[in-house]
Amino acid sequence: MSTIAKNIAKVGERIREAAQAAGREAATVGLLAVSKTKPAADIREAFAAGLHDFGENYLQEALAKQAELGDLPLTWHFIGPIQSNKCKAIAEHFAWVHSVDRLKVAQRLSDLRPDDLPPLNVCLQVNISGEASKSGCAPEQLAELAVAVARLPRLKLRGLMAIPEPCDDPHEQRAVFARVRALADELNASLPLDLDTLSMGMSHDLEAAIAEGATWVRIGTALFGARDYPAPSI
Ligand SMILES: *Cc1c(COP(=O)(O)O)cnc(C)c1O
Repeated sequence: MSTIAKNIAKVGERIREAAQAAGREAATVGLLAVSKTKPAADIREAFAAGLHDFGENYLQEALAKQAELGDLPLTWHFIGPIQSNKCKAIAEHFAWVHSVDRLKVAQRLSDLRPDDLPPLNVCLQVNISGEASKSGCAPEQLAELAVAVARLPRLKLRGLMAIPEPCDDPHEQRAVFARVRALADELNASLPLDLDTLSMGMSHDLEAAIAEGATWVRIGTALFGARDYPAPSI
């Protein structure tokens, strides 16, 4: 078995154990393979080992890999910071965007989503770590953003995404993910919205995220090995 195939098996086992501990079906937790900085060959290998969903942070890099992998039925997720001038290509080339954190970007993505594609699935990135974080919508502004995004015709608002400040304590990890889940529950109850997605949990904290209801865990290092690039900015 290749290293990537072995890693996929290990991560699958972690997901199954965490789901079981939480009394959840493992099938309710999606594995989003974060392939940023990794070559197309790694994605091909991961696909051969059973993965279909891939997350990328950098548009140009993602487009190059998509062109190389056009023969595979992959689902692409954009998970990085979004500049306005990238919205057209993102709207054209991805099925999901996890990192929407302002209305201007959401509007552009909706306006530029091609008619022959289904609505673009989006998550709102919430700034759950306060001042430490550079991106994400402040929790106090989330309801207003969610209402506006839910009205955009070519987007489907699916849920919330968060990148907590790195932390080694599993209890603290869970407490932060619990806050994300509570925000989604509030939006569903008060607005009401129909959010079914929590995109949270990475290589080092997927267990805590699954315990608090993650439906996508975004896993890079544990599948593809360490990157030269720095960790994502929170
Ligand atoms: C890089 C990245 C990940 C993957 O992180 P790992 O620690 O390598 O699993 C997940 N989410 C986002 C937004 C990222 O940028």
